[in-house]
Amino acid sequence: MAEENKLMEKIVSLTKRRGFIFQGSEIYGGVGGIYDLGPLGVELANNIKAAWWKNIVQERDNVVGLDSAILMNKQVWHASGHVDSFADPLIECKNCHTRYREDAIQQTVKGLTCPNCGKSNWTPPRMFNLMFKTHIGPVENEASETFLRPETAQGIFVNFGNVVDTMRVKLPFGIAQIGKGFRNEITIGNFLFRVREFEMMELEYFTYLKQADKDFEYWQKERMNWFVSLGIDKKNLRFREHADDERAHYAVRSVDIEYDWPFAQAQGKPGWLELEGIANRTDYDLKQHAKESGKDLSYFDEETKEKIVPYVIEPSLGVGRAMLAFLIDAYHEDGDRVVLKLKPELTPYKAAVFPLLANKPELVKLAQKIYLELKTSDLGLIAWDDRGNIGKRYYSQDEIGTPFCATIDFQSLEDQTVTIRDRDSMKQDRVKVNKLSSVLKEKLRY
Ligand code: ATP
Repeated sequence: MAEENKLMEKIVSLTKRRGFIFQGSEIYGGVGGIYDLGPLGVELANNIKAAWWKNIVQERDNVVGLDSAILMNKQVWHASGHVDSFADPLIECKNCHTRYREDAIQQTVKGLTCPNCGKSNWTPPRMFNLMFKTHIGPVENEASETFLRPETAQGIFVNFGNVVDTMRVKLPFGIAQIGKGFRNEITIGNFLFRVREFEMMELEYFTYLKQADKDFEYWQKERMNWFVSLGIDKKNLRFREHADDERAHYAVRSVDIEYDWPFAQAQGKPGWLELEGIANRTDYDLKQHAKESGKDLSYFDEETKEKIVPYVIEPSLGVGRAMLAFLIDAYHEDGDRVVLKLKPELTPYKAAVFPLLANKPELVKLAQKIYLELKTSDLGLIAWDDRGNIGKRYYSQDEIGTPFCATIDFQSLEDQTVTIRDRDSMKQDRVKVNKLSSVLKEKLRY
């Protein structure tokens, strides 16, 4: 148990120290459940999003993208059922007045005793709506009130007609979106796992009722394969079917892809918790919006010459939660060497360039030239380091996952070759300077 605890501590400390993740508004003491991405974190997040977009939109011929606004007409949230039903049971400890999500307390080792004061004297549960309220315009009244979106999906549903009218899509087809979501979670914690502001990657896959079960299975497999193809060990992933009383108000079937999280193990619980949710949302959302807006949100099926409201299969994943799983799975210790064995597709830097010695101008000059050439050769982000000794520089790049390091040494000045050192095998090859970018491109190919 202690090991798992330490692993999370190490990841939190590495990600802070190396500029991946900072506490939100840290200089003012932070805000609960809010994190900022540092220079390396934004690269990792962008790479995760790009990998998702490539897999979900660019490589398929029946999925299109969308970027809808965070703020929507309040009626959206009434129609979708979120105003009435997007709530968690909240209980308060009568002794110390700490508030918790009831089901989260039930799952802890201590059961129904307060983790803060150890007493067991609770208020009855009441449903707490997780949406953040705000106002649009200068007047704060009920008419101007709306909510920050707790999911991006509704932006997709309200644009269903626009996409059908403009894109010549044919059922089954998907609309995908990446964007911020906000949930005023009662209990936050476990770093990026449960936060109050996060980016989501959501696909709404519109299909025929008769095909919905088959498509559900298809997306289950596709999503699982995506995590594995990006390096997550299969043994740390599994599916879990939701019980009837667990599902969201709109779903007839939900299956989570769960990850074996070390923080849960460290708290004495089974590690398996949701990484991604896949839901069959039926025709519920489109029908609700058609009813409340008075607009026709049906689809005209050319084959049967019938108007139908499609069923929807939704895989939905948080960028931060995915990032945490990728980081945990990639974290390796090899003696005193820490290596983030991220797939090159995800690493913040694709390569680093070092002059062997920082005080030899001829080495630095050649290294700078190579560095600038690599930076503009479409490889992605390239790091530069001329501090300390070469061993330390390798370790420093290993810790942030940089797959390759190119070192410019005295031999480079003679024969225009440099060494390329591989993060995982630590082997070094010599390559010609004028072949460096193509060799790296080949090695990094994903
Ligand atoms: P839970 O039951 O754990 O609160 P949920 O079932 O409400 O989660 P979904 O609505 O299925 O979550 O959300 C889809 C995905 O969005 C999740 O699988 C997760 O990756 C991400 N996600 C949801 N809530 C949060 C959060 N508070 N912080 C970070 N990521 C989140």
